[in-house]
Amino acid sequence: MQPANYHTHTTFSDGLEAPGAYLREAIAQKLVAFGFSDHAPILFDPSRPHVFMSPQQLSDYLAEIERLKKVYSGRIQIYKSLEVDYVPGVVSVDSEHIRNAGLDYTIGAVHFVGYYKKGRPWYFAGSERGFARGLEEIFHNDIRACVQRYYNLVREMVQLHPPDIVAHLDLIKKMNPTGRYFSEQAPWYKEEVVKTLEAIASAGLIMEVNTQAYYKHGAEEPYPSRWVISLAKALGIPMHLASDAHRPEDVAAGFQHVMEMLYGLGLSTVRIFEHGRWVDRPVEQRARC
Ligand SMILES: [Zn+2]
Ligand SMILES: [Zn+2]
Repeated sequence: MQPANYHTHTTFSDGLEAPGAYLREAIAQKLVAFGFSDHAPILFDPSRPHVFMSPQQLSDYLAEIERLKKVYSGRIQIYKSLEVDYVPGVVSVDSEHIRNAGLDYTIGAVHFVGYYKKGRPWYFAGSERGFARGLEEIFHNDIRACVQRYYNLVREMVQLHPPDIVAHLDLIKKMNPTGRYFSEQAPWYKEEVVKTLEAIASAGLIMEVNTQAYYKHGAEEPYPSRWVISLAKALGIPMHLASDAHRPEDVAAGFQHVMEMLYGLGLSTVRIFEHGRWVDRPVEQRARC
């Protein structure tokens, strides 16, 4: 098992409990390293309510993690991060409030693809209804244009504002579990994925294997799908497991199952953050504890 998780959410963004509850659970589940990565503030429009977290909450969040590092010192390694959206001209890991946050590492993600007519950004990963609405209003139901725009944004993030870790690479498939919108085997889709993996490989970034779809939605495939993981492996992209926990009990949810999957795909190491630096550790098929 991988006794570490670097992608988690607390009440500082859309998680269910305060940070301390996650640490108690992580210690109970024998994790040795734990990273907080609440959604970073996105300052779309200063006159509107902030998405996920306000700049004021950001300072409270950073202070709370520093406090917990002291309280739990010696019992678990605690890391301070943010899941930072990439929205062109609005936010990236290079935004001032992110650079000034003193993070141990950054996770980069694309959750917003374009804007509704009235200017509201489209969060495509919320609900099936919201997905259908954005697809119609912004892309006139052209799913290929929508998916291509998504992967373009991921590549732009990787090339212009690279985070340490790329989150849930193929999240755009979230509302497509039955293949209703597109086939992952379509040549155009594969091409987008391959181009994006090549960009990640040349930027030297880590790609997380996100277990949330598996344990929360019962999907067979994690983010990204197994065929994408195999291609990433062939390109030498370092990977690790991430549960994207929004509840303390999910601090390592799906890890054993998906780690066995990675083992089956021939992955020999995972890249984890240990005592402040990234190191490669062997993939173990069986649970450690
Ligand atoms: Zn995310
Ligand atoms: Zn997340």
